[in-house]
Amino acid sequence: MVSIVIYRSRLLRTLNSAALGDLVRTSRVINEVNAVTGILLFDGTYFLQVLEGPDSAVQAAYDRIAHDPRHGQVVKLMQDYAPSRRFPLWGMRLIDVREQPDGFSMANGGADAEPGTRLPTKDRAFRLMQRFASGRWRDHTAEFADPGSWTFEAAQTARFADAPAATLANAPCQFALQPIIDARGHTVASLEALIRSNSGGSPEQVFEGMTPQQRYEFDLACKTHAFALASRLDLGTCKISVNLLPMSLTAVPDAVARLGGLIAANGLSPHQVTVEITEEEAISHFDAFRVALKQLRELGVSIAIDDFGAGFAGLSLLSKFQPDSLKIDRVIVDGIYHDGPRQAIVRAIVECCRAMGITTVAEGVETAEDWCWLEAAGVDLFQGYLFARPTLNGVAPIAWPQPRKNPEAPGAAGF
Ligand code: C2E
Ligand code: MN
Ligand code: MN
Repeated sequence: MVSIVIYRSRLLRTLNSAALGDLVRTSRVINEVNAVTGILLFDGTYFLQVLEGPDSAVQAAYDRIAHDPRHGQVVKLMQDYAPSRRFPLWGMRLIDVREQPDGFSMANGGADAEPGTRLPTKDRAFRLMQRFASGRWRDHTAEFADPGSWTFEAAQTARFADAPAATLANAPCQFALQPIIDARGHTVASLEALIRSNSGGSPEQVFEGMTPQQRYEFDLACKTHAFALASRLDLGTCKISVNLLPMSLTAVPDAVARLGGLIAANGLSPHQVTVEITEEEAISHFDAFRVALKQLRELGVSIAIDDFGAGFAGLSLLSKFQPDSLKIDRVIVDGIYHDGPRQAIVRAIVECCRAMGITTVAEGVETAEDWCWLEAAGVDLFQGYLFARPTLNGVAPIAWPQPRKNPEAPGAAGF
């Protein structure tokens, strides 16, 4: 079996042409020993590197590069396997695509292939090489995303600082709040209420042991405690987001009217409330669910699709109904900075949501790198440990991104 990895990286300021020559020579020696073919396309700023050979050698080469400080913005574009090699055993080959103004082609000297070599021009790998050489791929996102130019300084949001942190007395559960923020504008768009048991246990522990119907009833009824918590905060234009199983809206009689009652009883307006729905179940009872959605909208409540991309019905659900906001799941967000396929998917999601007027939210943002990429890609709002952890009965100080005062500081190198 032959493995192929393709990644893109950016030339670092510190790498002059002599150093580049050294890099190529060293790689050639290592690759030849390991039966790896390396093809390095270069456009003056970016590299596209193809690595083909035995799986373990290719992975080892990629890992070495991904951790090599001389490579910047390494993004893996492709990982694939094949029964045999696509490319001849070349060791290492550097191709300057600027020297091929008529369009890149392996056959016409993109590589001086031995006569009779049949190059895989219909192959995904080859298409990625052609796209890179054409320059049409140019990633302006990557050019703006510089994690080294930001610091994250925790600051208590004044309006939330004075909130009484007392637990909800006589409640069957508690709620932890986690902010959903406009990271650049330094504003909190919403606080998501995440259910906890009275001993701080997870959502699964809260619902454990209940029959499905009990779970739906409880899920709906417990929201009064989330609204009570929100009513003690100075929300201003910030909203309170609550999670509901789709069945909590369809299997509980008069669910939406009851939800409206809980909102009013706690002195809130429906315009201050967002209901987050995970896609999974929604689709299977869609007719009943559609009625509930209509009622929620009539009430004035906003709707978010939660965990988008984690389930199996993402686009199907989105084609059936368009929420106010769409929360991109952590499985897509985590590590996006290095992941070409996920970057392409999120770019398409952002574009698609823009076309429909839907706000995009990235969930589970843990690193400055991922945030920078997502922010530059046009994601509107962010939620994650990088900014603030969920906090029982309160709001944690938020670590807002601040432009680094000294751009030459460590971490800024390489961009
Ligand atoms: P969710 O709605 O997607 O909520 C986000 C979850 O991700 C929360 O887990 C939160 O603590 C966690 N999280 C936030 N930022 C990060 C991060 O940067 N990294 C990581 N690794 N995790 C992060 P939690 O509180 O355990 O909730 C899990 C799920 O339980 C929620 O996912 C939601 O689907 C469900 N849930 C929570 N409260 C309720 C509720 O009242 N009713 C219903 N039906 N489901 C609820
Ligand atoms: Mn949620
Ligand atoms: Mn989620």
